[in-house]
Amino acid sequence: MNPFRYERALDVDHAVQAASQGGRFIAGGTNLLDLMKENVERPRRLVDISRLNLDRIEPLSDGGLRIGALARNADLAGHPQVLRQYPLLSSALMAGASPQLRNMATTGGNLMQRTRCYYFYDTATPCNKRSPGSGCGAVGGCTRIHAILGASEHCIAVHPSDMCVAMAALGATINVAGPQGRRTIPFEEFHRLPGDAPQYDNTLGEGELITGVDLPAEGFAGHYSYLKIRDRLSYAFALVSVAAALRLEDDGRIAEARVALGGVAHKPWRLPDAERMLAGETPGSRVFARFADALLEGATGQGDNEFKIELACRAIVRALEQAANGTPQSQVDKRIA
Ligand SMILES: Cc1cc2nc3c(=O)[nH]c(=O)nc-3n(C[C@H](O)[C@H](O)[C@H](O)COP(=O)(O)OP(=O)(O)OC[C@H]3O[C@@H](n4cnc5c(N)ncnc54)[C@H](O)[C@@H]3O)c2cc1C
Repeated sequence: MNPFRYERALDVDHAVQAASQGGRFIAGGTNLLDLMKENVERPRRLVDISRLNLDRIEPLSDGGLRIGALARNADLAGHPQVLRQYPLLSSALMAGASPQLRNMATTGGNLMQRTRCYYFYDTATPCNKRSPGSGCGAVGGCTRIHAILGASEHCIAVHPSDMCVAMAALGATINVAGPQGRRTIPFEEFHRLPGDAPQYDNTLGEGELITGVDLPAEGFAGHYSYLKIRDRLSYAFALVSVAAALRLEDDGRIAEARVALGGVAHKPWRLPDAERMLAGETPGSRVFARFADALLEGATGQGDNEFKIELACRAIVRALEQAANGTPQSQVDKRIA
C-alpha cells in the first residue's frame, strides 16, 4: 500500500477545504479501502468525514424526506418513514451487499461507489477509467457484467449501485457543499455516461462534498417493485435490476410511471419520455412489453452480455406487473414471484 496522510474533518467547511487541497473523503470505507488495497486508488490524503453531523433522516416541510450523506444504508432501509413512504428505496437497499456492509456503507459513499468492472480492478490490464488513455480491456474481453446502453468505445463499465436505481426512479436531488458554496444536483444529472472521459463517474466538482439527498413527497408506496437479477441470490451485484413505480387512477389506469434500470449502463437508466407513454394505459404485459422496447431502444450487446437485452426486457415487464398488482419483489424470499 502507498503511504497516505489521514485527518479527521471537524465540520463541513473543513472537509471541503481539505478536499480542495487534494484530500479524498472516506466515510464507511467499504469501497475506498478495497480499492486502495488493490492499488486501484492511491490517495495521498484521506479526509475522514464519518464523524460529521450528517447522519440524520428527517421529514421536509413539503412532505418529502432529507437523508443525510452519512446515514447508513441499514438505517435508511429500516427507517419508519422510508418503509412507509418510500418502500421502493428500502427494498433496493435490502437487495444490496450484506448486513455487515449495509451497517457501514453510507448514502454518500453508495452514490460515489465505483464500477465493479473486472478490468478496472485488475491493474495489469488497460482501463481508461483507472488510467485515462490506456485503453479499455473490457472491449473485446469478458463482458458478462458490462453495459448494453450508453457505452462508448472508451468504456463499457456499469454503475453497480442498487440504492441509486431507486433514487433515480423517485426523482431525488443531491445536496452538495463545495468551495464555491452549496448547490443541488438533480439525480439524472449526477452520474454521467462515459463518453471520452470515463475517469469521471459523476458531475461532482473538485472538493465538493455530498451533504445529503432529498426525496420528493410522492413515494409510489402503493405500487412499486425492485427486481434484481444476479448470478447468486444474495451478495452479488445486479446483472440487471429494475426499480418500477406506478401511481394508478381509481379506475386502475396508470396516472404516472417511473422505471429505472441498474446494471445496464454507466448510470441508472431512465427515459421520462418513454414513461409518459404509459400514462392513461391499463396495466398489462403487452403495454409493459411495448414500454420495455422503448426503454431499451438502442441496446447493444458486446458478446458475453448480449443475453442482458432480453433479460432486461423480461425483468422490466415482470417488475411493472409486480408493481401494478401490488405484489413487490421480496428481498427476503428472493425467488421471483
Ligand atoms: C463485497 C461487497 C458487496 C457489495 N454489494 C453491493 C450490492 O449488491 N449493491 C450495492 O449497491 N452496493 C454493493 N456494495 C457496495 C457498497 O454499497 C459500497 O461499498 C458502499 O455503499 C460505499 O459506501 P461507503 O460509505 O463505505 O463509501 P467509502 O468507501 O467511504 O467511499 C466511497 C467513495 O465515496 C466517496 N465519498 C464518500 N462519502 C462522500 C460524500 N459525502 N461526498 C463525496 N464523496 C463521498 C469517497 O471519497 C470514495 O470515493 C458492495 C460492497 C462490497 C465490498
